[in-house]
Amino acid sequence: MRRDNPAPHMSARPLLEIRGLHLDFGTPRGHVHALRNVSLDVPAGQVVGIVGESGSGKSTLAYTVMGLLSDNAEVTSGAILFEGRDLLSMPTSARQSLLGDRLSMIFQDPMTALNPVRTIESQMIDIQHHEQSGRSEKRARAIEMLHRVGIADPQSRIGAYPHHFSGGMRQRICIAMALLVKPALLIADEPTTALDATLEVQIIHLLKELQKEIGCSILFVSHHLGAVAELCDRVAVMYGGEVVEVGAVREIFHNPAHPYTRALLECDPGRIRQRTRTLPTIPGEVPSLLGNRKGCIFRARCSQAFDRCLHEDPVEYRIGLDQIARCHLLDEKRLVSA
Ligand code: SF4
Repeated sequence: MRRDNPAPHMSARPLLEIRGLHLDFGTPRGHVHALRNVSLDVPAGQVVGIVGESGSGKSTLAYTVMGLLSDNAEVTSGAILFEGRDLLSMPTSARQSLLGDRLSMIFQDPMTALNPVRTIESQMIDIQHHEQSGRSEKRARAIEMLHRVGIADPQSRIGAYPHHFSGGMRQRICIAMALLVKPALLIADEPTTALDATLEVQIIHLLKELQKEIGCSILFVSHHLGAVAELCDRVAVMYGGEVVEVGAVREIFHNPAHPYTRALLECDPGRIRQRTRTLPTIPGEVPSLLGNRKGCIFRARCSQAFDRCLHEDPVEYRIGLDQIARCHLLDEKRLVSA
């Protein structure tokens, strides 16, 4: 069935509503349609994961919400409503004042976020510029937050520079800085990708704990399905700049409806039960996003593709209460059972 009405339990207005977002990058070879008709909600107090292969558009989506795109990027249509206000149409000054206050971000590489020539102390005090309190109070809050994220002896280490810390510790400091401002929405772009497996588990647990404590929402971008299953309430699956499936984590992981989601789960090393020397992959390559196209974005790699997939864009079909997927097979099934 098509997506006509919101599911009954989804009636409260989400904190973040992305509506019909299209984004292009201008390149010497033409326009790259990096995001096509993306719609996604992040409810208040929930963690929403975005998964997909490299080049699926998940980080581009995160950067678009933050307004951190390169000059050749252009949103051609759509809206990003945050607390009911469209980020894309608000004055630059109003949008900037939301950053580091209501909206905060953790990057894949902590050195991208930290200034290498300034102490952690000065950076953690600066990030609290929206607060009215004095420097000593801000310093005390920074020390408390460093303690919360597991930095030993924060009282003396707060005066150190980023290079004095290991990669895992730097990411903890970034989390501390991002959460120090008590944002309504934290955007985490592959925050554990550069870390080893043990550190990744620690960081995921830390994020989960702090999210509950602060009550913020998180938009969590990751290619690691295990991390998403551990942390998120909902998940959106992206392919070729489109959201092809979205729903509650348990539904997507146990009852995936889109052939791409199923293929992605079959390739997850965490789900492979038999010993193997070769990890499965999805045959074929991610599609070029240059120029216009017709039909399903996944058609060239889909083992179930049929004639309709070549000529017609699939619309959103609802499965159950709030799982949605874009695949003609769902319509065909409905037609057969009608
Ligand atoms: Fe495969 Fe067609 Fe469904 Fe696309 S619409 S996922 S090509 S069956």
